[in-house]
Amino acid sequence: MSQLPFPESFNLVFFGGTGDLVTRKLLPAMYQCHKNGQLVESGRLYCLGRQNYTRDEYLAIVEDKARQFVPKADWDDDVWTAFSERLSYDKIDAERPDEYELLKQRLADSPAEVTVFFLSVAPSLFAVICTNLARQGLNGPNCRVVLEKPLGHDLASSNAITAEVGKHYQERQVYRIDHYLGKESVQNLMALRFGNALFEPLWRRMWISNVQITIAEDVGIGSRGGFYDGTGALRDMVQNHLLQLLCFVAMEPPASLDSDAIRNEKLKVLECLVPFTEEDVHAKTVRGQYRAGVSGGHPVAGYLEEKNIPADSKTETFVAIKAEIANWRWAGVPFYLFTGKRLPTRLAEIVIHFHDVPHHIFPLPSSGSRAPSKLVIRLQPDEYIRLYLNAKAPGNSMELQPVSLDLDFAGKFKTRRAEGYERLLLDTIRGNQALFVRQDELELAWRWVEPVLNTWASDPSGPKPYAAGTWGPSASSALLSRDGFGWHDEG
Ligand code: NAP
Repeated sequence: MSQLPFPESFNLVFFGGTGDLVTRKLLPAMYQCHKNGQLVESGRLYCLGRQNYTRDEYLAIVEDKARQFVPKADWDDDVWTAFSERLSYDKIDAERPDEYELLKQRLADSPAEVTVFFLSVAPSLFAVICTNLARQGLNGPNCRVVLEKPLGHDLASSNAITAEVGKHYQERQVYRIDHYLGKESVQNLMALRFGNALFEPLWRRMWISNVQITIAEDVGIGSRGGFYDGTGALRDMVQNHLLQLLCFVAMEPPASLDSDAIRNEKLKVLECLVPFTEEDVHAKTVRGQYRAGVSGGHPVAGYLEEKNIPADSKTETFVAIKAEIANWRWAGVPFYLFTGKRLPTRLAEIVIHFHDVPHHIFPLPSSGSRAPSKLVIRLQPDEYIRLYLNAKAPGNSMELQPVSLDLDFAGKFKTRRAEGYERLLLDTIRGNQALFVRQDELELAWRWVEPVLNTWASDPSGPKPYAAGTWGPSASSALLSRDGFGWHDEG
């Protein structure tokens, strides 16, 4: 995370240049970096795909997409024209070794201090692309590869990708993206914890009763039925994003912002995750699947009626898990992980619930329950940190009511807040791996979820149904209420 110097020149190559991720997210992110003056003038972007486009045709397509996805306030025709000078397009089938000669030639024509290959393609192509790049000598010390999720389907397939990529690129050349880690609020969580003396002494089992980490989506699976049905929410969200967020909450203070200092601390958290037995899976996890319901005021279909979904699919679109960390700091503190599709709203947040006071001198509030302090770190759609404390309600009684101290980043810092991919793309060019997942972290995350995957696969009962537009199966609330807790609701 430390600020390494930016190279004097770079080549950034996008495999999957015609795909959704590159056109909707990555090129708009690079446009923003260009607009902010964060790219050196000699930086070049090479986009690759199998379509037979001329450069002009390709530029017209990506400009059209960028106009849709760059916020209006940030769009500038002249800036886009200047940015597009950096872009080229070539038709290359990643599976045909001979076609890489063209790429090699292109890169040789504008040699750069750093070359980054961003593999925005299906993971089944990772090995073949790395092999073909290496055949052309495009794996030297100044080359890096960026891998998008999904990084495997299970431990074995993930290890197979690692082994194949590792034949040609060393770990320090491999950047595994988890785009949640590019979010300012995740970095702000580090600032909050390790840049203030206030919270760190409280950040432990003596003061914290439970932690809730939620990534909720209001959308269904859209047109991704074929992909999603083979994946499910556990692989799509828990194994990567939710576990990474858990690591940032639970890790010990790193000695510095050095990439490995941070990743070593995250690894220790993963090592301390209590593994699931088969009984634990039944007791500590809930899987759900949405049925027809109402979303955004409109009736929507259930998962089994979606396109490309088998009528008897048991794929989960919702997961709630009680995770536990067996170390001195966190023993006995449940970390509830929660994610799902077709929930009432789109949000991602971390909520730290503090213990109640040891002795009550104030009357029970008229609501009938007390509200111990809690800290909410909202990651999306808006970004803020909100500390709920008890204050005396105005009037003659000594009744307490929760009030919040708000740190709204958009209001506090007038400068534009960068998208996660901007930060992460700049880091790949700069060579900063702090916000990328190391191979050993990836492996431990898969090891932890694998018993859940296996138990679910052999359990004929399948996921519990929930109506679209609700917060998932009622069993997920029971997961907390059994421990005497409830889900946080910002209201
Ligand atoms: P996509 O829209 O289906 O695009 C796939 C890209 O791969 C296309 O550009 C396609 O090129 C290219 N491709 C396929 N086979 C190829 C081959 N043999 N040689 C060269 N190029 C080939 O997929 P996407 O949504 O952009 O996602 C790309 C990767 O990122 C996937 O692994 C996905 O899971 C992951 N991801 C995507 C998102 C997202 O928001 N989209 C988010 C997280 C992760 P042609 O069409 O020109 O053939």
